[in-house]
Amino acid sequence: MNTHSTPIELRSDTFTQPSEAMLQAMFAAQVGDDVFGEDVTVNALERSVADFFGMEAGLFCPSGTMTNQIAIQVHTQPGDEVICEAGSHIYFYEGGGIAKNSGAQVRLVQGSFGQISADQIMPLINPDDVHRARTRLVSLENTCNRGGGSCYDLAEIAKIRSLCDAHGLGLHLDGARIMNAIVANQENPKDYGKMFHSISLCLSKGLGAPVGSVLLGDAAFIKQARRVRKVMGGGMRQAGYLAAAGLYAMEHNINRLAEDHAHAKQLAAVLAQCNWVGEMFPVETNIVIFEVDSKGNRQGNGGSTAIEKGSGVASAQGVSAKLLSHNIKVSAMSSTHIRMVTHLGVTPEMIQRTLEVLKGL
Ligand SMILES: *Cc1c(COP(=O)(O)O)cnc(C)c1O
Repeated sequence: MNTHSTPIELRSDTFTQPSEAMLQAMFAAQVGDDVFGEDVTVNALERSVADFFGMEAGLFCPSGTMTNQIAIQVHTQPGDEVICEAGSHIYFYEGGGIAKNSGAQVRLVQGSFGQISADQIMPLINPDDVHRARTRLVSLENTCNRGGGSCYDLAEIAKIRSLCDAHGLGLHLDGARIMNAIVANQENPKDYGKMFHSISLCLSKGLGAPVGSVLLGDAAFIKQARRVRKVMGGGMRQAGYLAAAGLYAMEHNINRLAEDHAHAKQLAAVLAQCNWVGEMFPVETNIVIFEVDSKGNRQGNGGSTAIEKGSGVASAQGVSAKLLSHNIKVSAMSSTHIRMVTHLGVTPEMIQRTLEVLKGL
């Protein structure tokens, strides 16, 4: 077996390690007490990200879960309703935080690859009736994590924003990977700044910083958000050492996301030829999700496959274990689906090695 020593980490883009240059920038940071608003590096990061999206203000937080949860808390009152997609991170992966932190409830929409439309949202907005929860917020995710890194069409977001305006609803963007969408579709980030009341952006995913997320909104929103962050225990002191990594990422690691997208497409092209692969999600950014088809009958090419030879790759866990024996780490999302995520720690050589292993599986 051809086992190489360097592991190929495709489980998530959260595994990125800070580069030498990023670490240097962190070492060199000027810091102060950010709870007093005196950390110049945190202030510079918040300004930089806000300006990038053309928004008034930003707030540096420890995680994307916190920026989302703070946003929901500022937008809602207990008993209010939040409309979001059934697999959205704010609902699916934040530990029941909407109920726990905000006392709000959710109205779930079954989307298409994680995306919901204005037409789907419209009938879910409750009328002003004492029997009904007060609909207060719509939250979208771009790119959609469980949708395989899919991207919204800006025209659909504009329709959703008009609907929100007509009903006095807030519109939040969980933009953990919004930079991937912006790079993939060559969009103007300021279009997002105009359409959303609040945006959460992760620095610790494809952007390659070790820690941190930024919440954006208008000045009044961020003033309230700063209060909620303190209550949640997210007020950090000399956080400029971490913010410096974010500033470095904003300067150096945005455009290179295109490489990750090209790598994901290379993986998808080879997977599409493997007869143990079933349905594949369309690959638009840095996430590849596919079904392991135990029957090996994709596109009717059920010829002699590794699965029929009893190689034990018939389940997602089986494929994942096989790849691990080649030092390639992927995540089995379920018994049937596997996810691979490309990022700056995955080199062209690693992609080549992975392609060879996939072909031979
Ligand atoms: C990663 C992620 C977050 C935030 O996660 P943290 O680990 O708390 O930083 C939020 N939304 C989406 C879609 C994500 O993928």
